[in-house]
Amino acid sequence: MVRELTHFIGGQHVPGASGKFGDVFDPNLGQVQARVPLASRSEVEAVIANAEAAQPIWAAFNPQKRARVLMKFLTLVQDEMDSLAALLSSEHGKTIADAKGDIQRGLEVIEFAVGIPHLLKGEYTEGAGTGIDVYSMRQPLGVVAGITPFNFPAMIPLWKAGPALATGNAFVLKPSERDPSVPLRLAELFLEAGLPPGVFNVVNGDKEAVDTLLHDPRVKAVGFVGSTPIAQYIYETATANGKRAQCFGGAKNHAIVMPDADLDDVADQLIGAGYGSAGERCMAISVAVPVGAETADRLVAKLTERVHKLNVGRSDDPGADYGPLVGQDGVNRVNNYVQIGVDEGAELVVDGRGLVVEGAEDGYFVGATLFDKVTPQMRIYREEIFGPVLTVVRAEDYEEGLRLANEHEYGNGVAIFTRDGDTARDFAARVQVGMVGINVPIPVPIAYYTFGGWKRSGFGDLNQHGPDSIRFYTKTKTVTQRWPAGLKESNAFVIPTMD
Ligand code: NAD
Repeated sequence: MVRELTHFIGGQHVPGASGKFGDVFDPNLGQVQARVPLASRSEVEAVIANAEAAQPIWAAFNPQKRARVLMKFLTLVQDEMDSLAALLSSEHGKTIADAKGDIQRGLEVIEFAVGIPHLLKGEYTEGAGTGIDVYSMRQPLGVVAGITPFNFPAMIPLWKAGPALATGNAFVLKPSERDPSVPLRLAELFLEAGLPPGVFNVVNGDKEAVDTLLHDPRVKAVGFVGSTPIAQYIYETATANGKRAQCFGGAKNHAIVMPDADLDDVADQLIGAGYGSAGERCMAISVAVPVGAETADRLVAKLTERVHKLNVGRSDDPGADYGPLVGQDGVNRVNNYVQIGVDEGAELVVDGRGLVVEGAEDGYFVGATLFDKVTPQMRIYREEIFGPVLTVVRAEDYEEGLRLANEHEYGNGVAIFTRDGDTARDFAARVQVGMVGINVPIPVPIAYYTFGGWKRSGFGDLNQHGPDSIRFYTKTKTVTQRWPAGLKESNAFVIPTMD
C-alpha cells in the first residue's frame, strides 16, 4: 500500500474526493512512493470559497502582526531544515545539500516579506491644492493563486506566498503533482506559526484544477512558474479572465567566456551551473560560448576532464554531485535530445546516456553529457533540454557571443566571464536577458531585488519577489481629501442653539 496524500484546506488535511490520483515517485529507486489526489473542479471551487471567507480575517491583522506570523514561520522551518530537505530530496531527486538551498532561498523571500510594515507605506502629498492632501494606500487583492513547477518545490511556492500573505491576501497553491509533500508540510507550519486557517491552502491537481483557478472570478491574481507553453497558456487565459498574471517559463542560459577569463575557475563554475541538480534548474547554464578557437579548445579540454570526474549518485548520498532526474519521462526526453544532437552533427564529447548507479539500478539517472561544435540552427541549441547536458557553441568574437544570447528566444539568465570591466559593462548594458551574471554563473537575484526573465522566459510585467511582488499582490487606492473649516474656527464650546 502506498501512502495517500491529501489537500490542505481551511487549516486541515482533506482527502481527495475526485477519485483521480497521480503517482509520486522515488526517483532514486524508480518506484511509486505515494499517490497524490487530483482535485475536481468542485473541490477547487470549495477551496476558493474557503480562502475567500478567511481572507478578511487575515487582512485585518495589522502589518506588524502579519510580519510576526512570518517570523515564527521562519523559525519553524529552520528548526525542521534537515527533515524537510530529506523529504524534498526523496521526491525530487536533488541532493540533500541542494534541497537545503531550495528551502533557504525560499526563506529569504519570507525574510524580505517580514519588512511588510515598511514596504506597504504609501505616498502622501500635503497641500496638493488649496486645503487638499493626496495619499495612496496599497490593499490586498483578495484570493490569489500560485501554480508552481516540480524543480523548486519549496523555493517557488514561498517566493509567491511570502509577499502574497504579507500583503494580506489568502493564497491557494497548486504545486507540482510530482513533489507535493513539502508544500503540504509548509502549509502545516504556516498554521502552527499563527496564520488563520484557510489563508494558505494547498490543492493538488492537474489541468482541471488549474483551469478552475483560471476561470473562477474570485481568484484575482495568478502567479505561475513552469514551462513556456504552459506559462503562455496561463498568462493568456488568466488575463482574458480579467486577472493579474505573472508567468515565468523555460530557459536556455548562455555563459560567454572571454579569452582573458581564468579558464580553470570558469570550468569549475560551469560544471556546477550546468550539471547541478541534474540540470533541472531554470537558471542552469546550458550553453557555454567560448570566444576564439583557442579559448574553446582549452575550455572544452578542462570541461571534459571535470565531467569525467563527476559523481552521480543517490540524492541522499553525501558524496553525490547530483542525483536522479525527477521521472522516467525526463530521462527519455534527455536521451532523445542527445540522439538528436548526434544526428544533427554536433560533437558528442561525453555521452551520459545509460548510466547505472550501483544499488539504485532502476533510478532515473543520466550521466553528465557534453557537446562541442553545436550551432545555432540545431534543436539542442534552440530548445530547452532540462537535463545534465552542456552544449558548447563556439563564437569568433565578443559580438557574436552577445548576438547569440540576444537572438535566442529565451532570455532568463546569462553570464559573462572576463577580467575586463569595459567588456562586462557593455555586456550588461546590451544583453537582452533579464538576469545577468558577471563572473557569476547563476545570477539568481537576492530576495530584495526581483527575479524574472525576458522574451519567452517571462509573461507579464511585474517580477517575482522584491518591490515588484508587493505591487503585484496589492491594488493601489489613491485618496484626495479636503476638509471643510472645522472645530478650530467655530464656537464649538458654546452650547448649540437654534438661531
Ligand atoms: P510544467 O509546465 O510541466 O508544470 C508547471 C505547473 O503547471 C505544474 O503545477 C503543472 O501541474 C501545471 N501544468 C502542467 N501542464 C498543464 C496544463 N496543460 N494546463 C494547466 N496546468 C498545467 O513545468 P515543470 O516540468 O513542473 O517545471 C519545469 C519547467 O519550469 C522548465 O521549463 C523550467 O525552465 C521552468 N522553470 C522556470 C522558472 C523561471 O523562473 N523562469 C523557474 C523554475 C522552473
